[in-house]
Amino acid sequence: MIIKNVGLETVCGITSKLPDNVHMEVAFSGKSNVGKSSLINGLMNRKSLARTSAQPGKTQTINFYNINDELYFVDLPGYGYAKANEEVKAQWGKMIENYLKNSKMLRAVFLLIDIRHEPSQNDRIMYDWILNQGYKPIIIATKLDKINRSQIQKHVKMVKEGLQADWDTVVIPYSAQTKQGREEVYELLDGLLDA
Ligand code: GDP
Repeated sequence: MIIKNVGLETVCGITSKLPDNVHMEVAFSGKSNVGKSSLINGLMNRKSLARTSAQPGKTQTINFYNINDELYFVDLPGYGYAKANEEVKAQWGKMIENYLKNSKMLRAVFLLIDIRHEPSQNDRIMYDWILNQGYKPIIIATKLDKINRSQIQKHVKMVKEGLQADWDTVVIPYSAQTKQGREEVYELLDGLLDA
């Protein structure tokens, strides 16, 4: 996949209607600070189009990035920010669930997990929501450059087991620093576009 042009097209708040997009959507979810903006920026070849969370957990929006007029990257609000108040926490849950349930063009959902750590309870909840809406979560194990090469397989196994993921779940280790893993994500997107 070659990214030619990208733009933030729609920003949805808690009360906004979801856009009636005509191209397929792929969504990115994960705990705040997991590296979601960095991944989306890396895939789009942009330094800072996707917001990096200066105030993590505060921005409760779903952002739609138009990619080449052929698909959308959907940036879901980051969850699990410990200091967010209960109202905010309830809001992200509703927004994410509503999107997964109602988007007609959603074709794949990426779930980002920090490769260094065991998935949290929120990660497991997110994994189950994705499954329950009929999608097979694709795991991106972020911050790959922060572990030793010899530890990768062990950590991938830990992430899978922590999520109680099926054996055939795709896990793509990714580094926003080295862009390792980016080609695998592009290939996967190409496969979805050809389907
Ligand atoms: P978000 O809240 O999920 O959007 O996370 P960000 O993309 O804003 O990243 C959170 C922090 O982790 C920032 O300081 C990033 O620079 C850092 N970060 C994200 N991805 C990576 C990565 O692959 N490697 C390293 N070393 N740091 C990363």
